[in-house]
Amino acid sequence: MLTAIKYRIYPTKAQQELIRKHFGCVRVVYNYFLDYRQKQYAQGIKETYFTMQKTLTKLKAQANYAYLNECNSQSLQMALRQLVTAFDNFFARRAKYPNFKSKRNPRQSFAVPQNISLDNKKVYVPKFKEGIKVKIHKTLDKDCAIKQAVISCVADTYYISVFYENNKSIPKPLEIKKAVGLDMNLENLLITSDRIIYSDKKKIQDKQSKLKKLQRRLSKKKKGSNNRKKAFKKIARLHNKINLARDDYLHKITNEITNQYDFIALGTFDAKSFVGNNRLSESVASFNRHKLIRMLTYKAEIKGKTLMLIDKFFPAYQICSYCGADTGKKSLHMKRFACPHCNKTHNRDLNASINIRRYALGMIDDRHRVKIDKSRVGITRSYACGDSSVVMSRYGDILESGC
Ligand SMILES: [Zn+2]
Repeated sequence: MLTAIKYRIYPTKAQQELIRKHFGCVRVVYNYFLDYRQKQYAQGIKETYFTMQKTLTKLKAQANYAYLNECNSQSLQMALRQLVTAFDNFFARRAKYPNFKSKRNPRQSFAVPQNISLDNKKVYVPKFKEGIKVKIHKTLDKDCAIKQAVISCVADTYYISVFYENNKSIPKPLEIKKAVGLDMNLENLLITSDRIIYSDKKKIQDKQSKLKKLQRRLSKKKKGSNNRKKAFKKIARLHNKINLARDDYLHKITNEITNQYDFIALGTFDAKSFVGNNRLSESVASFNRHKLIRMLTYKAEIKGKTLMLIDKFFPAYQICSYCGADTGKKSLHMKRFACPHCNKTHNRDLNASINIRRYALGMIDDRHRVKIDKSRVGITRSYACGDSSVVMSRYGDILESGC
């Protein structure tokens, strides 16, 4: 199973300079070939990785590109691979047309595909013979094969991500004893069918308002001035802090959920269906939610749990979870509603998560003719599984009844 781990590294001044050189060279190669490929394409010539690699070798022989030779040649080739992947994704309609890489991007990085080694104190990659100081918070599995590393820098902080094969196979899905439904929306990150609310607001909001203040101040600073540069750095550092805090929280809650439940049904989030939010908060929220889905997916997989994504067309908000009646469309502001058929009042999001759980459990039962990949689903024991068990949460709040 391929696994990744990220360490903080502490390069010396000279190493920092060499790392920055790599960022620059990788960016030059990427941008050069993005432009080159476009021009060749206009003339009807299709470039592949191998033809571009040949051109790169010629380029490095030219005097005005000789500085490329100071960097690990394999890292430059990785930039070409990245470009090819970017185009593949574009043609498969998975991504937008590739953009030029910018010097101004707050996160710079380069990849190292080979000859990476690690001991307790240092990480060794080509061109950095004496090794870069590293803080090991978690050791790699013994005898694992390192496949790739990526060195990055955000706000003057350096990291290395190590990708390795850990010789473990993906476990078979476990028997389903405990199931949960999760509803995702813009106000809360998640609400579970067991009445736990996970919200990212508390954790991030203070920092976010501080960020806005800094950004306002930045706009008043003169362009090109030293004060503006300083303000830029401050913002980048805070951005990094916010990202780290968010990732930490996402890891905690996805661990909590995947440890506790064998079957997780997640109503997927559609940012466009939520009106009345400004674009920025929408894009930030949807970014966090995509990350959450990714984490849940891989954590469920390595722990042998079953995750099922329920598409946004399932009317989770409309169905009464008590009597099953369709109660009609709801406005976003309607947080509670009463079912016109059975008169039971519901919290809109909790009601949705209960519906999602039930719908998903129904899908793994043959009575519903919905196509799913059954090889990734454990055996269900009973319909009412997990209903009466006590739910514990360290990282979420419990929704009081009547809320
Ligand atoms: Zn009802």
